[in-house]
Amino acid sequence: MSTGNGHVVVAGTGVIGASCAYFLTCDGWRVTVIDQGEFGRACSHGNCGIVCPSHVLPLAVPGAVRGALKAFLTPASAFSIKPRFSPPLWAWLFRFARRCNSADMLAAGRAIQALLNSSRELYPELLKEEGIDCEWEERGLLYVFRSQAAMEHYAQTDRLLRDRFNMPARRLDGDELKAHEPALKAGLAGGWHYESDAHLRPDKLMTEWRRVLEKKGVIIRTHCALTGFATAGRRARSATILSSASRPGEKRPGATEQLGADAFIITTGAWTPLLRRALGCRIPIQPGKGYSITMARPASCPSMPLIFEEDRVAATPMRSGYRLGSTMEFAGYDTRLNRERLQLLREGARPYLLEPYCEPVLEEWYGWRPMTPDGLPIIDRSPALGNVFVAAGHNMLGMSMAPATGKLVAELLGGRTPHIDPLPYGLTRSWRAPGVK
Ligand SMILES: Cc1cc2nc3c(=O)[nH]c(=O)nc-3n(C[C@H](O)[C@H](O)[C@H](O)COP(=O)(O)OP(=O)(O)OC[C@H]3O[C@@H](n4cnc5c(N)ncnc54)[C@H](O)[C@@H]3O)c2cc1C
Repeated sequence: MSTGNGHVVVAGTGVIGASCAYFLTCDGWRVTVIDQGEFGRACSHGNCGIVCPSHVLPLAVPGAVRGALKAFLTPASAFSIKPRFSPPLWAWLFRFARRCNSADMLAAGRAIQALLNSSRELYPELLKEEGIDCEWEERGLLYVFRSQAAMEHYAQTDRLLRDRFNMPARRLDGDELKAHEPALKAGLAGGWHYESDAHLRPDKLMTEWRRVLEKKGVIIRTHCALTGFATAGRRARSATILSSASRPGEKRPGATEQLGADAFIITTGAWTPLLRRALGCRIPIQPGKGYSITMARPASCPSMPLIFEEDRVAATPMRSGYRLGSTMEFAGYDTRLNRERLQLLREGARPYLLEPYCEPVLEEWYGWRPMTPDGLPIIDRSPALGNVFVAAGHNMLGMSMAPATGKLVAELLGGRTPHIDPLPYGLTRSWRAPGVK
């Protein structure tokens, strides 16, 4: 498809939609972005903001099924599954379980790494180019362990990342850890520092994306939900837009209109499966609910993002605040802000930090991560409509994969040679690595 003065509609204004819109305008497309809610206010708003090329492994690793079963039976754990009748969830879990082997894990890791590495390179360039201030810092990411057993167990993961993905960490034992990060308590077992990771403030990035896109002439329409397409053969002519439908399930009828374009990009994150009729295929994405608490910076604030793997909590220091985040809950499209799960974040940080939390609390938040069974996003054309692309399912790494996703989408739409092999992100992929029985 030639770029010229063609028009593209991007549905969804999270970090993925914003990045797609940016690279498409850079290629000369006229772009309109629409969102059923506010710009950038969904999962891309209150997440931990870690841009982490070190995070190459998917959730589906050997042994993860045992963890998932335990979670099913323990609703109060950081990872939880709400027991309920939901065939799409069960199908998702079945696919996830089938991926929990070394071959699939390594195949997924290679495809995840391609997007992570490309994005890590692109971020500093585009932040500089567009003058984006999102509190970007290059201080790495520190995994902290309180028990020696967990520290040694992680040594196996470190070896795997080093040998298979050229992603070595710096090992810090006992007192070395405390000297490296004084905000930590004394007496912890140790840590692993991934020095090439970076972090940013996600809500600031999204505010800046809006400014940059508007400056480039992108039309932004909020409270407009895409509900389907008017088609001609195997192409979409226009998107059916329902305005004023700001919340899923809202009863107030909105005005419907048709928005014509040459191509359409669906970047609707965890909501994408709800568009299966419009897209002509099932989308195996489940919302993986996570929480965060944003506070003022404590006096003893960490100097870099920290992950407490044993308690599944992350702490991100930002120039203008401090955030605790994480937990993973498969509870469908549940909009409740569950205070028990917020409390898990506080409890989880307590064993590690001198000042794990701080007043005032600026925001308590949840977001739905768009989770796929294999940990890879979907970046592909709809099988039913040749000019409709899906870019969704970025799991726990949407901030870290966004620039490369946007660039790849622009390349695919423009018919150019993609800078990353798009095959692993195909919509009709087998969800298993080739050659695995
Ligand atoms: C607690 C937590 C911590 C995290 N930490 C990190 C981290 O440190 N690093 C990292 O890389 N990632 C992190 N993530 C993951 C990251 O936040 C997500 O992968 C990413 O935000 C997904 O972006 P998105 O654009 O696909 O989705 P979203 O940001 O959810 O955007 C989708 C948009 O589509 C809109 N939409 C939906 N349906 C329609 C429709 N029919 N029509 C129009 N608009 C529609 C929605 O309103 C929404 O605005 C974290 C997530 C959580 C929950």
